[in-house]
Amino acid sequence: MSHVLSTYARFPVTLVRGEGTRVWDDAGKSYLDFCTGIAVCALGHCPPRLVNAIREQAGTLMHVSNLYGIPQQEELARVIVEDHVKLPGKVFFANSGAESNDGLIKTARKFGHTRPQPDGSPRYEVLSFTKSFHGRTLGGINATGQDKVKEGFDPLLPGFRHLPFNDLAALEAAISPITAAILLEPVQGEGGVNVATPEFLRGVAALCKKHDLLLLLDEVQVGFGRCGPTMAWRAIAPELEPDGISWAKGMGGGFPIGAFWLSDRPVDASGKTLSSLMGPGSHGTTYGGNPLACAASLAVLAEVTEKNLEANVLRQEQRIRETIASWQSPAITEVRGLGLLLGIGLDVTKFAVPEGKLPAAFICGKLLEAGLLVPPAGPETIRLLPPLNVSDAEVDEALLIVHATLSSLITPLR
Ligand SMILES: *Cc1c(COP(=O)(O)O)cnc(C)c1O
Repeated sequence: MSHVLSTYARFPVTLVRGEGTRVWDDAGKSYLDFCTGIAVCALGHCPPRLVNAIREQAGTLMHVSNLYGIPQQEELARVIVEDHVKLPGKVFFANSGAESNDGLIKTARKFGHTRPQPDGSPRYEVLSFTKSFHGRTLGGINATGQDKVKEGFDPLLPGFRHLPFNDLAALEAAISPITAAILLEPVQGEGGVNVATPEFLRGVAALCKKHDLLLLLDEVQVGFGRCGPTMAWRAIAPELEPDGISWAKGMGGGFPIGAFWLSDRPVDASGKTLSSLMGPGSHGTTYGGNPLACAASLAVLAEVTEKNLEANVLRQEQRIRETIASWQSPAITEVRGLGLLLGIGLDVTKFAVPEGKLPAAFICGKLLEAGLLVPPAGPETIRLLPPLNVSDAEVDEALLIVHATLSSLITPLR
């Protein structure tokens, strides 16, 4: 009997070792890993540069309080601002995506106090979107546009509303005097791999300007090269200038770290900046941004940049799309996504799915039996999240497994 709280319906496999794009279970069977801990192991498993950085830092200084100066944190913030965001701003380090989003939500509320409603009462509402996912903290589940994460956890927090994704008119109609910010994923990951259109992203930015709202991007799953360009929004609407961005997942390559960035843009006539609203005492964390986590993330980001993994991401996306299109499979409705966050949409009527199972989870279980780890994204989509440095041969092998497995599962026409 397990003593672990049963919050997960787990696949029946126990993983004990990894190298590159491969992992092994406790019986010695190997799998191609196109799940990568849900877009976390950006460089695959145990990449030498990351392993060495962690070993070296662990033996030098693992943790000190944020009450003291931390050079690795300063350097990582500099790299993120200068080489990745490339807009003036400041970074706060956390330990996960949900926590980073909580930081953005708190910032929205600070902003709503600084720039209140005409009667002086604060603005506090954060608009987000249906099928979004923003994490499992109380802030995260309230921002998330899926009922399943909220069941049994009401009363919900005030100040959240969800609008249909990629629907600018509905969003504009929902903006009210209490609205302070709009929070969105440039590509929705957990909600089924849905890409924001350029018109939508640009329209959201214009509405933020018009109504004095913060534009907050959740790049927890898509940031740092997953979609090609280091910042995913730049793959869609490169000229966009967000006010805040959150990250986690891939930025540590497997070491837990998250972060959020706030713009240095002025928020009042005196020139006070948005980033300065989160001043001393406003926010904190014991672990966030410790020397070990920052050394790990510095190694990951250096590898992504120096090896030009953006080029590999775009190349493999192209190869995957072309191969899947060439199958002309009746089981596949479309391939959605950007870079190496790809969703294979399934025609679920083509499969005989056992009672009580969601089609995508059922098929992911069959792919696992065939030697490929992939997670579902919603009930009808399987997600491909290989490492950013995945090779041609690994992509080909994985796609062979997908093709053979889907073909074997399609219910024959009577
Ligand atoms: C995974 C994810 C989160 C939550 O991150 P955790 O590290 O699990 O807290 C938030 N937003 C998005 C877009 C995610 O994909």
